Amino acid sequence: MKLHPTPESPTLVMHDMASLRETSGQPVIKLGFGQSPFPPPAVVIEALKENAHRHDYAPVAGIPALRAAVAEHHRRHDGLECTEKDILISAGSKALLYAAMAAFQEASVIIPAPAWVSYAPQAKLIGHEVVSLPRMAGKGWKILPEDIANAAALCGAGREKLLIFNAPGNPDGICYTENELRALADAARKEDIIVISDEIYGRLHFEDAHVSIARFYPEKTVVTSGLSKWGGAGGWRLGTAVVPESLTGLRAAMLGILSEIISCAPTPIQMAAVTAYQDSAEMRDALARRRAILKELAEYCHEMLFSAGIGCTRAEGGFYAFVDFMPLQEAFARRGIENSYALCEILLQETGVALLAGQAFGMAPEYLSARLAFVDFDGTAALEAAKNETIDRDFIRKHCAKTCDGIAAVKTWLEAIS
Ligand code: PLP
Repeated sequence: MKLHPTPESPTLVMHDMASLRETSGQPVIKLGFGQSPFPPPAVVIEALKENAHRHDYAPVAGIPALRAAVAEHHRRHDGLECTEKDILISAGSKALLYAAMAAFQEASVIIPAPAWVSYAPQAKLIGHEVVSLPRMAGKGWKILPEDIANAAALCGAGREKLLIFNAPGNPDGICYTENELRALADAARKEDIIVISDEIYGRLHFEDAHVSIARFYPEKTVVTSGLSKWGGAGGWRLGTAVVPESLTGLRAAMLGILSEIISCAPTPIQMAAVTAYQDSAEMRDALARRRAILKELAEYCHEMLFSAGIGCTRAEGGFYAFVDFMPLQEAFARRGIENSYALCEILLQETGVALLAGQAFGMAPEYLSARLAFVDFDGTAALEAAKNETIDRDFIRKHCAKTCDGIAAVKTWLEAIS
């Protein structure tokens, strides 16, 4: 048998490893798995209950009321000139990302390194060429216009060029300014690249100031998002895509793929999502508290690890920091630690803290790095407390204690090593 060599997603493997340790009675602080600590807002849960009886298939593209609500949401928050007909709904944005790539017969997919774990396996599964776009610590891990030109030069002749762009970023929480996005859009336009912009963390920009690259390159940008992160509903599987008319035929091709593999996102979930996409006072309040808690955690994480003598991104949105252990490379070498998987394994053994190795995000194995997800705390309790308490350093030490302890344990471990 000749099978595709697609192993299980490394994020899930790490989650299993940490869970195994936990079931054997050893304490674990799970900062490896990127799941929202917060539940869906109460109004959205209520809406799901009210719609649980709906059992018919929905249209492949999504129910019209939700598509209209999502279009309105992107117009209001991101300034995108989209309408209901530009929107596709599916079972998670992962399926939409896959469909957007699979719609092309022959493509070179430019994927930054580090980047979210599933882009490259998806592109390879489809049979596309993967072109890596290295991101550098020295450039603040940001993509620059010349990086796009360099990557385009490596793409195979005659293939469609696709760039995967993701901000706020996983694994780093990095966001771009309007000027930076405009320059990247210009570079993509010059190289005739289609941008697939994964904005799943957009609504979790800590200052509620997310800017979409699609504003500066509307004609050739597909924007994916969904309820998994800001809606705290990863397991509900609700993803969205804005696919502009100008990308002629792409929407129809994606729809065809989704119709063969998914049929539709679950109907009750779509109905509940209509409530989530309404700009109600409840939703605004629920999101404001989430952002404030995550912002405080991001700052704590950056300060603690930076002061331990390593690199750590200062996230501006989402719930991750990318940790760069290379400043301590020699100290690690003395302990025989020479790749990022080994580093994370030893860290888990010696501190009980689970991180996800940089190699899973496309970094070279010997580049000692990892993603830290500051999410191991009871999000429901923290949100409840945030109704009455100021969200500051004391707040996260009290209500996000496990995550703070994990970060402190990594710092102590690093200080002992260096
Ligand atoms: N994109 C990024 C950057 C992610 O981190 C994730 C989930 O971890 C996804 C996409 C997939 O999200 P969904 O739950 O919508 O499939």
